[in-house]
Amino acid sequence: MTVRLDASKVPAELVRLTSRLGDPARDLVVLAEGNTSTLVGTDQLAVKASGARMDRAVAADFVLVDLDEAAAVLADPGATQAELTRLLAVESGPYEGRRASIETLLHVAAATTGLASWVAHTHPTAIVGLVSTLEGPALWEGPLFPDEAVVVGTPAWVGYEEPGLALGRAVAGAIRDRLELTGVPPRCVLLGNHGLVALGSSSEEVEAITVMAVKAARTRALALSVGTPAWLDAGLGADLAARGDEVERRLRLTGGRP
Ligand SMILES: [Zn+2]
Repeated sequence: MTVRLDASKVPAELVRLTSRLGDPARDLVVLAEGNTSTLVGTDQLAVKASGARMDRAVAADFVLVDLDEAAAVLADPGATQAELTRLLAVESGPYEGRRASIETLLHVAAATTGLASWVAHTHPTAIVGLVSTLEGPALWEGPLFPDEAVVVGTPAWVGYEEPGLALGRAVAGAIRDRLELTGVPPRCVLLGNHGLVALGSSSEEVEAITVMAVKAARTRALALSVGTPAWLDAGLGADLAARGDEVERRLRLTGGRP
């Protein structure tokens, strides 16, 4: 797998998005948690390097990964974590040894199976708290308020998997299952005991999905603290999200796909 570090090829908006999401005041990540990516051309993915902090991100904190080669590793049932770790490193030159994030394959799954050109993966405290409960999946049985249905939709769910190959395969499987069920990839994947992945077609869209998913998590915690959440019917939520005026509003809000 070809991994290169070429800061001149890293979109400035990816750096800006990363530092916005990494702002400690937003409590979406701390230290070197989380990672972002976007397609560069049709065949490369710019993804955050391992160990880099999102709030201090600069272009040299991203590496370029060959998308087809990474997708082949993800699809190879014989691939091992040790092999993946080796493949994620820049092989030669001044940046030899610099490594793409260990979570690169979840970005590859989102970009290939999930058809996302922008991906943001964060560990918001508000979400990690809820997805670290036994009730986690049931807490998302339906949306709680209209904007959640419109911006986030119904998240796909992945139970805890070790970051790396296992998590990448699980995310790809969850996206594939959703595609088979509805014909449309999810906008958000919740990761048990871990965080979330926002899938979109612009930086604004993945940021909007992330902040609305955090609001949806906080709303659940608040609702649970005083009573039983009154879920909206998942079908009603989907109908609302597909309504013409809401599609238009989402497009304006996120600058992304309808
Ligand atoms: Zn993570």
